[in-house]
Amino acid sequence: MSFYDTYLEYENFDTEGFLKEVKEPDVLGIIKKNKLNHHDFLALLSPAAANCLEEMAQRAQELSLQHFGKTVLLYTPLYLSNYCVNRCAYCSYNIDHDIKRKKLTYDEIEKEAQIIAETGLKHILLLTGESRIETPVSYLVEAVKIMKKYFDSIAIEIDPLEKEDYQRLIEAGVDGLTIYQEVYDEEVYKQVHLAGPKRNYHFRLDAPERACEANIHNVNIGALLGLNKWQHEAFMTGMHANYLQNKYNDVELSISLPRIRPHVGGFRDVYPVTDQDLVQVLLAFRIYLPYVAITMSTRERGSLRDHLIPLGVTKMSAGVTTEVGGHSDSDKGDSQFEISDTRSVEEMRKAILNKGYQPIFKNWMAI
Ligand code: SF4
Repeated sequence: MSFYDTYLEYENFDTEGFLKEVKEPDVLGIIKKNKLNHHDFLALLSPAAANCLEEMAQRAQELSLQHFGKTVLLYTPLYLSNYCVNRCAYCSYNIDHDIKRKKLTYDEIEKEAQIIAETGLKHILLLTGESRIETPVSYLVEAVKIMKKYFDSIAIEIDPLEKEDYQRLIEAGVDGLTIYQEVYDEEVYKQVHLAGPKRNYHFRLDAPERACEANIHNVNIGALLGLNKWQHEAFMTGMHANYLQNKYNDVELSISLPRIRPHVGGFRDVYPVTDQDLVQVLLAFRIYLPYVAITMSTRERGSLRDHLIPLGVTKMSAGVTTEVGGHSDSDKGDSQFEISDTRSVEEMRKAILNKGYQPIFKNWMAI
């Protein structure tokens, strides 16, 4: 039994028909409940719920304060390599794109780590394109050992691995995994993942669970909003998080809500997601899964990110570059996509304080 069985149960569910039937009084009743079921959650993604955003925001804020207080954890991504063997329609690193490729040497990794550590951040996310040849697990293990000298929490966002490989990385010092399914609809998944090992939908879908079985401390999942109808994708993401939370209740779960950003290549989001849609998804996640952390990245513009802090966001990136080697002056590799919020760590720290919240630089340290 894995989440794929739950996915199959809902594969042919008439989501649109269900959403049309939801009425505003239903939504107002649901947000008063202590525990929501799957259908309650789906109702919060309906057009009727879009007319109840104020009420949903009040409930989401109440739950966020109860479970997380007024805190926002800060972290930054560090891109180790932009070599990739996949053909994802929506990404600059796609093997077909003529971009400047680069993989950091161990000396360059150390230099980037030193520069980031000077900002005071203690949480780091290591990213690579997907290439077992350029960035094998042995390379990542060495990178993690370097990171351990500078950071208290090290997460990875890389290709899906077997449980034993996750164990190797956890032993080296990794405590978090970010892995986006990108799109939960299996047909659409095949359409946007044109070639490469990433076409294996099932192997990717089960990756968070393999990491949980390897005893990772935290897992962050999500769908890339814009690839498919957002109601369906948000619903499956919430169901996936709920499944993992119930089965691995010692793992700290997070959800991200990334929207497609400009990149090299002609793909544009097929199903636009407005700011209001994004807010509705955020509120629905918070009300359905009050204990789950919610991450908002620099894909979103600064004013919107600030506005979302009281509504349930608990983790934010800062001082971000998506270029390989982008923190130091060295020869850089091209970026994965354009970011929107370009603020430094210090600027983000002040912005969070201005909202009356506490920026957290460290909330976890492996012993
Ligand atoms: S999304 Fe990931 S796997 Fe796909 S092309 Fe970009 S880096 Fe490679």
